[in-house]
Amino acid sequence: MTVPNVKLNNGTSIPQLGFGVWQVSDDGARDAVAEALRVGYRSIDTARVYENEAGTGRAIAESGLARDEVFLTTKLWNSDQGFDETLRAFDASLGRLGTDYVDLYLIHWPVLEYDRYVDTFKAFQQIRASGRAKAIGVSNFTVDALRRVIDETGETPAVNQIELHPGLPQDELRAFHAEHGIATEAWSPLGQGESLADPTVTAIAAAHGVTPAQAILRWHLQLGNVVIPKSVTPSRIAENFDVFGFALSDDEVARISAISGSRIGPDPAEFN
Ligand code: NAD
Repeated sequence: MTVPNVKLNNGTSIPQLGFGVWQVSDDGARDAVAEALRVGYRSIDTARVYENEAGTGRAIAESGLARDEVFLTTKLWNSDQGFDETLRAFDASLGRLGTDYVDLYLIHWPVLEYDRYVDTFKAFQQIRASGRAKAIGVSNFTVDALRRVIDETGETPAVNQIELHPGLPQDELRAFHAEHGIATEAWSPLGQGESLADPTVTAIAAAHGVTPAQAILRWHLQLGNVVIPKSVTPSRIAENFDVFGFALSDDEVARISAISGSRIGPDPAEFN
């Protein structure tokens, strides 16, 4: 199965379908990432705050794959924002991951109240220049925060990783990203499982003889989102990767986009 790549603004590419490890223990991440790599995933999304960078890095090292065959993302936690703090936090993340570079480093949340994300991104630029992060981006950034980073650093983040699922299609941010060449990466792409029972989703899945999770992941892929579903269950890890043998019609994509819903996670405008 070949996963399409999405080209980033630094010239590298991210697999459009990857694997996330939030709310997985360090040992659990080692097992889940090993399974995901065995199934064929080649992009892994972790973060400092998940406390499983070590297990994630170990699974990649033990996989038998060359380091450059796996796209690895980690994120800077909120309390590590600031120029010098960021440089230190990045070194610590690399140490735990047991690698000498990441493919993508993200500011986890803007934390608007601290107002340190511009300095933080300037540190990211220094890290990228050193070759230890190939691409630099952000997560949970609002349009206003994206504009400030672009205006004050002269650089457009490669990625904005945001909460995005049926019920929260994020049309405004997706349009801004498209206009500025920012890749949209969807977190909680299955609505943490909540979207799977939606009647529109189950009807469309049944029409294609696929599962609700597969129908939702297909919706993301056809919208152009990068997507990182999480599971620790081997059958679901495989199921979520098996989404390239069917396609939704434009009408089905529109029907899933029209599902009403709301945020599951915090509002980035308020989260500290
Ligand atoms: P998700 O939408 O991927 O849902 C995961 C849950 O859905 C699983 O725990 C399981 O209960 C269920 N599930 C998964 N596959 C299934 C299947 N095939 N059938 C039935 N149920 C299934 O939620 P998530 O873990 O919140 O998000 C995915 C990844 O996004 C995370 O692991 C993390 O890497 C990233 N993330 C980032 C942020 C951020 O602030 N940047 C926040 C949350 C998550």
